[in-house]
Amino acid sequence: MEKARCVAIVLAGGRGKRMGTTLAKQYLMLHGKPVLCYSLETFEASALIDKVILVVGKGQIPYCRREIVEKYQFHKVCAVVEGGAERYHSVWEALKLLEQEHLSNGYVFIHDGARPFIKEEILRRAYEEVCKSKACVVGMPVKDTIKIADEQGCIHMTPKRSLVWQIQTPQVFASELIIPAYREVIENEQKLLEQGIQITDDAMVVENVCGCSVKLVKGSYENLKITTPEDLEIAEIFVK
Ligand code: C5P
Repeated sequence: MEKARCVAIVLAGGRGKRMGTTLAKQYLMLHGKPVLCYSLETFEASALIDKVILVVGKGQIPYCRREIVEKYQFHKVCAVVEGGAERYHSVWEALKLLEQEHLSNGYVFIHDGARPFIKEEILRRAYEEVCKSKACVVGMPVKDTIKIADEQGCIHMTPKRSLVWQIQTPQVFASELIIPAYREVIENEQKLLEQGIQITDDAMVVENVCGCSVKLVKGSYENLKITTPEDLEIAEIFVK
């Protein structure tokens, strides 16, 4: 079967407040290279991925072009765009471009630039699944028992552990599904905020808008997101 067109959206528009550094976490050095370069290398080398759209923070386009795209020669990066206030705003900027550039047939892999250890085998598993079901996200079953708390900080409930997954990226969708779903969320953003719904990943957009099911695909426990200083220390061990 002929391979469908696949575009990766790599998100590097966050400020990384929880890292406590002035430089955003995706640009911090990990074993001699910026964190962001690791996932870009996987996409660059992958036969599945045709193009990459890189989303960066306000005013960071020239820095990112020079210090990341040109310096490390990422030829698949076809655009570097400025993101928005929240992660979902950043994704929307890239999806709009995808539409404008008539690249919106095929599949979109939405990936956090702060997750350096994405591997080709995970991309392949996600691709195979999305071709069947149009929407899937990478994740892993949790190892710990998870509690849902109430507003008073007491345990409200304990979900059955075997059904709880920790969600990672990439989150992969048919473009024809994710673009209209995002458009609707952006248009109805105020209503969602009033309902207290915070969009923290892409699957939520599809779940909320389309009511269509999103498949879970196994990622790896190494596919961690660098958020706090200890994550960077763990990442150094993984690289070595
Ligand atoms: O904030 P969080 O850890 O969920 O961010 C996940 C990814 O989304 C990171 O790679 C971050 O750079 C990106 N992001 C973004 N635009 C934002 C917020 C986060 O591109 N406004």
